[in-house]
Amino acid sequence: MLGNIAKKLRLLGYDSEFSSKMNDDELILKAEKENRTIITKDELLSHQARKKNVQIIHVTANNEVEQLVQIYKNLELTKSVISGAKTRCTICNSQLDPIDKNQATAKVPDGVLEQTDHFWKCSECDRIYWEGSHIKNLQKFVIRLNEKL
Ligand SMILES: [Zn+2]
Repeated sequence: MLGNIAKKLRLLGYDSEFSSKMNDDELILKAEKENRTIITKDELLSHQARKKNVQIIHVTANNEVEQLVQIYKNLELTKSVISGAKTRCTICNSQLDPIDKNQATAKVPDGVLEQTDHFWKCSECDRIYWEGSHIKNLQKFVIRLNEKL
């Protein structure tokens, strides 16, 4: 349900899995095994996870900024900072490696190369990230987020 939030948490550098295919029992088992916190809007799932002592954040807000504020307050995290060094791939949750501009040349849309010198590549799926795409949009989001923390 919160796939967009999972993607934003990855951009912010947090190891975040999401699945719409797993049922509640599977999710709780996975969280238990991997020592993860479940983030959900589902009241029943929250209730069941609490019974099993799995860490849970029950999100009730409807917009993404408010949702992340709830998550941040629960995790007792400090204010967000965006840097390519911490960002994870939004597709596969792997870490990004900085790459040279010339390694990115063939793989980014026209115009991007003139705008930035900073590129990262996913260590697993080879997706390319650069300042100005994901990261600039996220910066605006994080400014709004930080105002509320
Ligand atoms: Zn990836």
